[in-house]
Amino acid sequence: MELIDGKAISLTLREELRIEVEEMVKGGHRPPHLAVILVGENPASQAYVGAKVKACEKAGFKSSSLHFEPTISQDDLLKAIQTLNDDDELDGFIIQLPLPDHIDENAVIETVDPTKDVDGFHPINVGRMAIGLDSFISATPGGIVEMMRRMNIETEGKHCVILGRSNIVGAPMAMLMRRKGHPGNCTVTVAHSRTKDIKSITTQADILIAAIGIPEYVKPDMVKEGAVVIDVGINRVEDASRERGYRLTGDVAFGEVSPKCSYITPVPGGVGPMTIAYLLNNTMIAARKRM
Ligand code: NAD
Repeated sequence: MELIDGKAISLTLREELRIEVEEMVKGGHRPPHLAVILVGENPASQAYVGAKVKACEKAGFKSSSLHFEPTISQDDLLKAIQTLNDDDELDGFIIQLPLPDHIDENAVIETVDPTKDVDGFHPINVGRMAIGLDSFISATPGGIVEMMRRMNIETEGKHCVILGRSNIVGAPMAMLMRRKGHPGNCTVTVAHSRTKDIKSITTQADILIAAIGIPEYVKPDMVKEGAVVIDVGINRVEDASRERGYRLTGDVAFGEVSPKCSYITPVPGGVGPMTIAYLLNNTMIAARKRM
C-alpha cells in the first residue's frame, strides 16, 4: 500500500505557483488576485476561507475576503458579485458554500462571470468541461486528478466507481474520469443514496472515489484487493480526547481499508490540501488570461 500524500503534493504545486508569481512580478505584472466571499458564521466555512487566504499569501497571490452577515439579501449579494465581476484588478473569486437558506445558490453561481469562476461551478464551465473544452475545473475534482497525474496512477481502461453525485464533487469527478487522456479513459459508475446493493458495485472498482459525507462508510468488504481509494470526505466526529472536542475523519474506514489498497489518500492530508492548491492553480490560469 502506498499513501498518496496530498499535503506534500499540494506544497509542491503551491511552490511551483509561488515561483511563477515571482517571475510574473519580475516581468512587471501584478500578482494573481483571488477574492473569497463568506456569508454568515459557519465555523467550517470560516476555517476553509482562512486556509485559502493563507495559501494565497504564501504563494505571493493577492487575496481579499469579503464577509457578509447571514441576513444579507440575495439582491445585495448578487450586487456584490457584480462589483467583483467588474473589478479589473481581480482575476477570480469564489463564494464559500453553503449559503443561508433564503439565498438561491444557483442564482449566485450563475451571476459569477465565467472567466472569474475559479471554483468552476458556473454552468458554462461545467458544460465546457463536460464536452472536453477549455474551462475552469472545480477545485476538488481538479485537485484529485492533479494528484493522480503526479502519482502516475494508471487509469486507462480501469473501472472507476464514484460514491456521491453532488455538483461539487461526484458529478464533475465522473466527467473527468471518463474523458480522454490521463488521468481519465476510465469506465465510470456513479453510485448515490438511491443505489441498490452498493457493495456489489464498489467491489468492482479499480479506483474508488468516496464523496458522500458519511464517516467511515467504506469498509474493507466494500473494496477490491489492490484498489486505488480516494477519500474526499471531511467529517467531524465527536472525540472527547481532543482539545477541540472532535476529530476529522473521511468517508473511508482508513485503518481497516488501507491494507487492501494499492494507493489510498488519508484524511486529513489527502484531498483537502489539494483542493486549496488547485484553487490557486485556477486563479493563476485566470490571471494569465487577463495579462
Ligand atoms: P453532498 O451532501 O452534496 O453529496 C453527498 C452525495 O452522497 C449525494 O450525491 C448522495 O446521493 C450521496 N450519498 C449519500 N448517502 C449515501 C449512501 N448511503 N450511499 C451512497 N451515496 C450516498 O456532499 P459533497 O459536497 O459532495 O461532499 C461529500 C463529502 O466530501 C463531505 O464529507 C464533504 O465535507 C467532503 N468534501 C471535501 C472536500 C475537500 O476538499 N476534501 C471538498 C468538498 C466536499
